[in-house]
Amino acid sequence: MRFTVISPDIYTYGAMLIAGILKNNGYDVVIKNTLSASPKDTVLLSLYSTQHLINEEIKSFVAERKKTQGEVFVGGPVSAYPEIIFGELNPDCVITGEGEDTVLLIAEKGISDDIPGLSYRDEKGDIIKTKHAGPASINRPLPLIPKDIAKQSIRGASAYIETHRGCTGACTFCQVPRYFGRNIRSRELEDILKEVREFKKHGAKRISVSGGTGSLYKYKNGQIDEDAFVELLKGMAKIMGPKNVSSPDIRVDCISDKILDAIRDYTIGWVFFGLESGSDNVLMHMGKGARVKQASDAVYKCREHGLKVAGSFIVGHPLETETDYELTKDFIAEHYLDDVFVSIAEPIPKTPLADLVLKTPSEKNPTYVPHAGEYKSLKLSESEARSFDLQMHADMFKPNLHVVTDEVFNAYLKGVRKDGFEVRAATDLLFKYYYNSEN
Ligand code: SF4
Repeated sequence: MRFTVISPDIYTYGAMLIAGILKNNGYDVVIKNTLSASPKDTVLLSLYSTQHLINEEIKSFVAERKKTQGEVFVGGPVSAYPEIIFGELNPDCVITGEGEDTVLLIAEKGISDDIPGLSYRDEKGDIIKTKHAGPASINRPLPLIPKDIAKQSIRGASAYIETHRGCTGACTFCQVPRYFGRNIRSRELEDILKEVREFKKHGAKRISVSGGTGSLYKYKNGQIDEDAFVELLKGMAKIMGPKNVSSPDIRVDCISDKILDAIRDYTIGWVFFGLESGSDNVLMHMGKGARVKQASDAVYKCREHGLKVAGSFIVGHPLETETDYELTKDFIAEHYLDDVFVSIAEPIPKTPLADLVLKTPSEKNPTYVPHAGEYKSLKLSESEARSFDLQMHADMFKPNLHVVTDEVFNAYLKGVRKDGFEVRAATDLLFKYYYNSEN
């Protein structure tokens, strides 16, 4: 049995890991970031965005493959809601949750109802879901690193490596605690560093600690292990050089002097906070577990340690009022963030945000409500208008001069229209399958 593991457009760490596990178990494997495979290969499609499920190229790729003998398995973060995957792509099976063990069992025995973590259609076309697979082992062989990894740049990094799984947070829009759980499972430092060396050997230019919250590495019994995080960054910097290591995405309540000094000394010197909103009301609805004051203190603390600070914000939460949105603008104006990322609230299936969106009538959901204010002539939804406005507003309050030229204006406009379209598509999908499969 030969496998082609595909993660569309980018080589995700998860895809490289699954490919590495198959290879380590004696299977012939290739990894690709494009939609192509030899006719008889079994394709493992690792999908990380709801948009993949409505992507016409992916749909026709799967349909074409099913005409040949090659089977198609789908896994990755989208697997939380197999009904949507079968309805839109109709693969041979869906590997749900952490797929490392499941994929090996399918490779060995074929699709079978005694393999945990699997969904497939029976002869009648009904979807069969086997029992939950549970957490996979955190110890693993080396990932299969593609030869052209040096060409990949995701926010400047060739790859985001996994140092631990899980998040203690419970943000209502996020899949991480639902997918990996709220207990932290950390890898051994030597295994991580061995992997970093391997990435370097394959030409990776910059390595980043995977999303979530970096400083939860080795978190145990309610305690952050500052020393373990310092050793992790120090070890990575020794291999890659500090200018080639980044540690994005950290919670505002998971920092300390020691942690910030390590980020300054052993990485590119940026901290990325998921700030989400300048309103305590919205932070509470998002289950963020941190308040605006903590976020503000964290930004100032980073500055004391000589770090640059980027913040990401989410607009268009169904319960975000105009007043809440204005508070986010005030937060940005006060803190002079070095960079700002804005996204529109996307209801990822099986998250509490998705449940809330399903209960929100479309005339009250900013994703659908037409914007009637300052940007009315641009024909944006309320979410798109807030995202557009916030990006331009943030530019006025960045430390260096940022002029909103026509080019920048048009780029922001194009970006928010695309985001708005995609979030509406994801929301429509949710409604379609919720009403078909659960009502
Ligand atoms: S802290 Fe980050 S990774 Fe954790 S639940 Fe919130 S958004 Fe997700």
